[in-house]
Amino acid sequence: MRIDVVTIFPEYLDPLNVSLVGKARARGQLDVHLHDLRGWTTDIHRTVDDTPYGGGPGMVMKPEPWGAALDAVLAQGPEGEVPTLVVPTPSGRPFTQELAQELAGRSWLAFAPARYEGIDRRVIDEAATRMPVVEASIGDYVLAGGEVAVLVMVEAIARLLPGVLGNAESHRDDSFAPGAMADLLEGPVYTKPAEWRGREVPEVLLSGHHGKIARWRREQAFARTLANRPDLVSRWQLGAFDKKEREA
Ligand code: SAM
Repeated sequence: MRIDVVTIFPEYLDPLNVSLVGKARARGQLDVHLHDLRGWTTDIHRTVDDTPYGGGPGMVMKPEPWGAALDAVLAQGPEGEVPTLVVPTPSGRPFTQELAQELAGRSWLAFAPARYEGIDRRVIDEAATRMPVVEASIGDYVLAGGEVAVLVMVEAIARLLPGVLGNAESHRDDSFAPGAMADLLEGPVYTKPAEWRGREVPEVLLSGHHGKIARWRREQAFARTLANRPDLVSRWQLGAFDKKEREA
């Protein structure tokens, strides 16, 4: 997968060299290109923002550098292809595991993380005439800029790419994974030793009985979801427990 990120803080994306994403890059599974937006400014101060039309506090990112940057990204990519443009914004659709899965199926993603009050709307509208655009929010809070949101999204997407995780099965049982785990949180996990500071690992996990272990894990997942995410519980369908049991 090719990934382009246009930002005024390319160094903010340094963590893309570390751990799972860094290894995926080293193996050639991810081809990441970082671009400094200020490279497409034309004034001596390399200005990327201006005051908002209509008044109000804060600044808005100017359309000219963004337009030129996206033109350049498009020209650098594979002949005849366009990226899916991902625009992090608190006003976007929620970035969920389902959306991560959908984006993991694309061969080329371009990210446009903003600063200040965001990017002049015409940039997004114009880009949408040339490429698919997804405006996505990583949660109901406001960050100072979109770079952290890009790190979040790239990591969630990268671990779904074939061959990136050591064990291809390991995201199947994750919270929110499509199928049996949709709308469910994963329950608690344990490792050796079997007893630590007087606390024992639940006996069923030592039983070697796969059916009982799977059932226990499902029960824990339901209990944890009920406790922590009642909003997910409200999406459970009548009979879903039986269905999930069959799928487990
Ligand atoms: N005024 C904007 C609003 O209320 O929607 C917030 C702008 S925020 C200070 C600057 C940038 O940070 C956004 O344009 C976006 O790129 C990024 N950002 C902030 N919170 C985000 C979130 N929850 N999800 C994704 N991106 C976010």
